[in-house]
Amino acid sequence: MNKTNKKIRLESHTIPTKYKIEIKPDMDAFVFSGKETIKININKKIKQITLHSKDIDIETVKIYNKGKNNEQFASKISYNIKKETATFSFKKEIKKGSYELSIIFSGIISDTLRGFYKSKYHIDGEEKYIATTQFEATDARRAFPCFDEPAHKATFLVSFMVKDNYEVISNTLPISIDKHESGLKIINFSETPKMSTYLLAFIIGEFEYIEGKTKEGVEIRVFTTKGKKHQAKFALDVAIKSLEFYNEYFNIPYPLPNLDMIAIPDFESAAMENWGAITYRETAILVDEEHTSLVNKQWVATVVAHEIAHQWFGNLVTMHWWTDLWLNEGFASYMEKVCTDTLFPHWKIWDLHLGSARYKSAIEIDGLASSHPVEVEVHHPDEISEIFDMVSYEKGTAIIRMLALYIGEDKFKEGLSYYLKKHIYKNTKTLDLWQAFEKSSKKPVAKMMSSWTKQMGFPIIKETYKDDKCILSQERFFSSRVIRNKSKDKSLWQIPLVYKNTKGEEKLILIDKKSTFLNDKIKKLNSGDQSFLKVIHSEKTLDKIKKDIKENHLSIPDRINILRDIFSLAEGGYIKTSEALGLSLEFKNEKEYSVASELASGLIKISNLIDNEIVRNKMKSHILYVFKPIAQEIGFDKKTEDRNEDILLRSLVISLCGGSGDKEIIKEAKKIFDNRINKTIDKDIKSTIYGIVAKNGGQKEWKTFYEMYKSEEMHEEKERLTGAISLFKDKKILEKTLRFAISKDVKPQDAPFIIAKTWSNHEGRDATWKFLKDNWDTILKRYGEGGHFLSKLISPLKNHTKREDLIDIKKFFKGHTVPGGERTLLQAYEKIESNIAWIKDDMKDIENWLNKNY
Ligand SMILES: [Zn+2]
Repeated sequence: MNKTNKKIRLESHTIPTKYKIEIKPDMDAFVFSGKETIKININKKIKQITLHSKDIDIETVKIYNKGKNNEQFASKISYNIKKETATFSFKKEIKKGSYELSIIFSGIISDTLRGFYKSKYHIDGEEKYIATTQFEATDARRAFPCFDEPAHKATFLVSFMVKDNYEVISNTLPISIDKHESGLKIINFSETPKMSTYLLAFIIGEFEYIEGKTKEGVEIRVFTTKGKKHQAKFALDVAIKSLEFYNEYFNIPYPLPNLDMIAIPDFESAAMENWGAITYRETAILVDEEHTSLVNKQWVATVVAHEIAHQWFGNLVTMHWWTDLWLNEGFASYMEKVCTDTLFPHWKIWDLHLGSARYKSAIEIDGLASSHPVEVEVHHPDEISEIFDMVSYEKGTAIIRMLALYIGEDKFKEGLSYYLKKHIYKNTKTLDLWQAFEKSSKKPVAKMMSSWTKQMGFPIIKETYKDDKCILSQERFFSSRVIRNKSKDKSLWQIPLVYKNTKGEEKLILIDKKSTFLNDKIKKLNSGDQSFLKVIHSEKTLDKIKKDIKENHLSIPDRINILRDIFSLAEGGYIKTSEALGLSLEFKNEKEYSVASELASGLIKISNLIDNEIVRNKMKSHILYVFKPIAQEIGFDKKTEDRNEDILLRSLVISLCGGSGDKEIIKEAKKIFDNRINKTIDKDIKSTIYGIVAKNGGQKEWKTFYEMYKSEEMHEEKERLTGAISLFKDKKILEKTLRFAISKDVKPQDAPFIIAKTWSNHEGRDATWKFLKDNWDTILKRYGEGGHFLSKLISPLKNHTKREDLIDIKKFFKGHTVPGGERTLLQAYEKIESNIAWIKDDMKDIENWLNKNY
């Protein structure tokens, strides 16, 4: 950590309590002028005031006490670019007391997707713009000078001067709309609750909306650009139900009379929980019942439930500093599942979560020595934006789930409600939460949980026997054998662990030592996949588990758990890879989507290590051996008796078989694609069909996808098409895909995903790396302003498997910066080293196993 970064926080002698902000945006020149008055309390004699300001021109600054006739203008305004601050110097000393700080400023409506930025869309060929904000984590300072730290909570009174055709949406509702002599209208909004700067929002544009009401009377509206409001119905329903759900769950009413949700055509992440004015990427909120796939619908529901959970967790009670970001994100990610599971029980959201790529990614990152603790020291904005990662979101979720298990659902709910009520409108640290749970449960929560939040990584539990007595021992798990072999890590965790004994009883124990004797006979450890850890079962227990899999006696979470563990044990060198491959044979008739999905990603990971064409083909034969029977059984067509899982399973297994060269499936997929004008392809299998056509297609197919993309309006369909064009095999075609990604045809918000997907394609690995090196300046210009794009973009670096690649990559990044992606880069280096060692140790083993079986 850079030492100078530590001094980046504002001093604590000046405290803002209320902002009155007037903004006049120019929607043609994309600039704005502003005026603000900040009420501040000064608790020390000073001659200077420093606050945050980035890319803003400050014209004049004055300070005064109301009615005291002591107004003075700042004699000097200076900026610190690195710290993103402005300092106002005054000639006369300012005594302790309450003041008003009045600032006149101007700035730009940028195209960086941060701060105050513009978003472009078309209506009947006409270019239109929205000006909108994205302030989390540290970008309110790009829209107005402010004390931009989460603990500086204040209230906000905002007003806007705009042309008549524009609407303005902000956190609260307008109290008045007046006509200005210039012909512009002035919209004044009512005062917000006391909140952090990063939660303020304003959105200016031409919209349409639909509305509804919760049973408590909260008005909910969903805004879209013109012509899309019919796609807002599903999100509106979910929002109403979620708000009602949380009102009851937290036992605190939502404090505003309104909640607006706005679909923005250009958006960096999925959504932003601005209090009362949640903004979304279009694909995270719009659902067209005819064309939206089930996967996307589930995505919309969880994102809406996530953002609404934040209205309590994050907005009402906020982390003191970004070190405790996980309090916001871990909790919202946990609550989104609790809520969605209640609203849509038939989706089996927890099973989907356990088998999801996000959860796997959290485990994968946290198995690295270059991970970070859940509570992590951060200072500079680039460091802050880096921790919006899977460790904060999904490991956060996992440890909260463990806690709920340990203290019981009722005490958990009671503790949460107590915590929110006690700290309402204030800021907290992690310990405040543990204390609330200790109060409700009377258990030593803080001691147990800090072992999970203060140290990075997680344990692996080994089951061994001595004189027939079971011993459970723990040590830190490493996904890289390189690190594991040289590690001297002595971390220990306090582990709530559920196991099933041979009598079929489930028991919950707390393991807090290096080794624990257990007077019981184990059937399976980590029953229900409830704890964030890995297990190595004894050979005897594993044999029994295999028998249970064969006889279909193991639950879905347990099957997911066994697969996830065995593949990561192989990766970390705890077992040979052939053992994992051997176990995968037991899952030949797996009909549950979440389990099949876990199995598929384990096999694909191994497959990604293999460069030799013959061996790759044998791996494909193995994938076909495991998945083809199910693909044949489930078929291409939907059936009336399909469960939700079947819809997802169909897409998965057909895609795997088509990608592994199954002639029958490829032929059928091509037939469906070619016939698409006569018969619309089912929304849930479209991506799969496109993918198979791309994987087995050439220039002609690329052009077809490109033309489809150009004439398409619906963002979800555009994503399906760009997903497909990343999957071609021919290097020349993939180079075309990469050029397309950064062309004018593609929104900057989408390009990183296309590049990352092409990079994750085994055939596109070298081409993408070369492309990135050649175009790094363009990339940096676009995404180097902070935020999460660069880290997303470079994350497929981790798939490289060759020493010469690693040398080249390291050399390149020695001379090129990756703002906001430094940790991702370190993680990629560690992963590549791990891949190299894995191949060295196990490639022969993999080949032998494949040769023996195929
Ligand atoms: Zn969130």
